[in-house]
Amino acid sequence: MAVFKPENVEDFYEIGEVLGSGHFAQVRKVHERATGTYWAGKFLKIRKNACSRLGLDRSRLEEEVDILHAIQHPNIITLKDVFESRAEVVLVLELVTGGELFDFIAEKENLLESEAIEFMEQILKGLGFMHSKNIVHFDLKPENIMLSDRVAPHPNIKLIDFGLAHRFHQGEEYRSSSGTPQYIAPEVITSDPLSTAADMWSIGVITFILLSGLSPFQGDTDDETLRNIIVMNYEFAAQHFSMTSSMAKDFIQKLLVKDPSERMTAEECLLHPWIKPITRTQVAKRNRSSINMKSFKKFNARRKWKMSYNMVWMCNRLVRLNLLCKGRSEADPLERQCESDVEDGESKPASLLRRRLSSSS
Ligand code: ATP
Repeated sequence: MAVFKPENVEDFYEIGEVLGSGHFAQVRKVHERATGTYWAGKFLKIRKNACSRLGLDRSRLEEEVDILHAIQHPNIITLKDVFESRAEVVLVLELVTGGELFDFIAEKENLLESEAIEFMEQILKGLGFMHSKNIVHFDLKPENIMLSDRVAPHPNIKLIDFGLAHRFHQGEEYRSSSGTPQYIAPEVITSDPLSTAADMWSIGVITFILLSGLSPFQGDTDDETLRNIIVMNYEFAAQHFSMTSSMAKDFIQKLLVKDPSERMTAEECLLHPWIKPITRTQVAKRNRSSINMKSFKKFNARRKWKMSYNMVWMCNRLVRLNLLCKGRSEADPLERQCESDVEDGESKPASLLRRRLSSSS
């Protein structure tokens, strides 16, 4: 069981600039007073009480922390320390300075498949390690694939955000409806028992986007996206995949498989000829094929725009909530605690809220 230190994080770390924000977390650069080392502090709000819909359950945070402790791998973010106060938990994480992989790629003029594969291989190695420990990420998407340092000649992938991750116990049946519509597997939508295969579906979607700049199941609304996933409505549109090798398409086709037990595992992916070519012809094919950079850049620009739109929308909501709380300061304290969490009259469970907010669609 992970140790949550009761001390004040600020006694040990100087809190610096904001590096990023998620649904329940704000991530800031922190400076360790004793050593002078920089880390990333992930500040997470704890749910105030059972009827509150803002913040996270402590048990959920314990799971995130336990999982991070269990998976120490060069391609997975490292957890150093955990602090807990009355209202929040702070995870002190390894600082990654290279930004998101997709942003790094979008800055390039062109990229060969063989270069993109170097990144895919690292992602698969990190994932394979997690899966070997029966841990599933459940929220793989471009925002959660970062680079430790973008100036290095071969930047190192770091998988982040284990907020939805789950460790399977022997014989356990686990269902969850959380995730991000564009990237979730059909069995998540149909509430069937889940497994490591759910992450492999997301890898299929991410690879599809990386090569073509198209999101395979993207609809005009989240509902349409989810329907497209259920009916497996996707195709390799000729104008977007003209530069793609047949091996890459085969790789994707073996991941976007409806039956989870038929999907390639991370270990199998690492042995697929697209990742690990055996013949000279296979090597040559990868070096001749490239990613559709024009389309990829467009996808990434749209994705970033939507992320900032979601962030502004979320900030506005929080400001409104704050005003709501202040206006009700005379109410019964317990009622006030519960009502202060009412979100514009919506009654969405937290998992759906997370799904909606994390949507890049
Ligand atoms: P989400 O709402 O997407 O589930 P979250 O609330 O769980 O997110 P994270 O995704 O872990 O939070 O972090 C939010 C953002 O903070 C990331 O997108 C990234 O930009 C930044 N970030 C997270 N961890 C680190 C880190 N270790 N080093 C640098 N930046 C980080």
